[in-house]
Amino acid sequence: MQDADKIKELSEALAHERQARQEAEAAIDASEQARQEFVSLVTHELRVPMTSIKGYTDLLLKGITGSVNETQTNFLNVIRSNVERMSRMVSDLSDINKIEGDRLQLMLVDVPLQAMLDEAIAAHKAEIQQKEQILRVEVPPDLPQMHCDRSRIVQVLDNMISNATKYTPEGGAITVTAEEAPADEGHYICIVIQDNGIGILENEQSQIFEKFFRASDEETRQTPGNGLALHLSRLLVALHRGRIEFESTRGKGSVFRVILPACAEILQPSQG
Ligand code: ADP
Repeated sequence: MQDADKIKELSEALAHERQARQEAEAAIDASEQARQEFVSLVTHELRVPMTSIKGYTDLLLKGITGSVNETQTNFLNVIRSNVERMSRMVSDLSDINKIEGDRLQLMLVDVPLQAMLDEAIAAHKAEIQQKEQILRVEVPPDLPQMHCDRSRIVQVLDNMISNATKYTPEGGAITVTAEEAPADEGHYICIVIQDNGIGILENEQSQIFEKFFRASDEETRQTPGNGLALHLSRLLVALHRGRIEFESTRGKGSVFRVILPACAEILQPSQG
């Protein structure tokens, strides 16, 4: 075969391969978009019936339709807590889907960390008291305000505190502290959530932020959860141009560090 013919044949093969690759990429994009649309539709459709179940359960519990005895109250409380879990899962899935589709907008405001921590802790006070755990919160009074999406960072802190209490046995200790990162690392605030609970096996630690990951040990399996909160928290913190680090020792406890930029200039996620 002549050189010119060989070159022609090669360039036709290359063009063919390029076209096949472009078609494969387009098919992957289309299936990813279909997946996101499906999750969006399902999460939207599930919200309405769940709100209705929650609302009617509350009405029954309040005795609106007549008095309820102790067993009925217990059953209604089980329905309520299960529907709450379902609605948290649906909401987490919907948030993850929005982030994956680049559709989650942050509403940035200046806010003191203490205010966000108070809000996140309030949601877990009852559980902490019930498990007789000791909670210590130490935020330096001169810590600069944070510039972030308040409800999203409360959501992250809520997840971290929820995990600390869930995966720490009765009588355990949870500590929340905060500090400014060293000046040479830029203007960052580091929020540290530490517990002396069950910890995470070393060989499972690399998977901890994966979607739906739950540790394999018996204690974790007996604790309700779906493995979405840490995955979502990491995505939300990354949207703020921050990161989450952790260390854990099985049987001794875990330390999670949420590191967020403190100043407005760094924080323009929607502008890429
Ligand atoms: P969930 O708690 O709903 O299972 P998460 O995404 O919050 O989901 O956490 C994923 C997994 O990481 C948990 O199932 C648990 O195995 C582990 N984990 C998270 N936080 C802690 C913690 N503070 N101590 C021990 N294990 C933890």
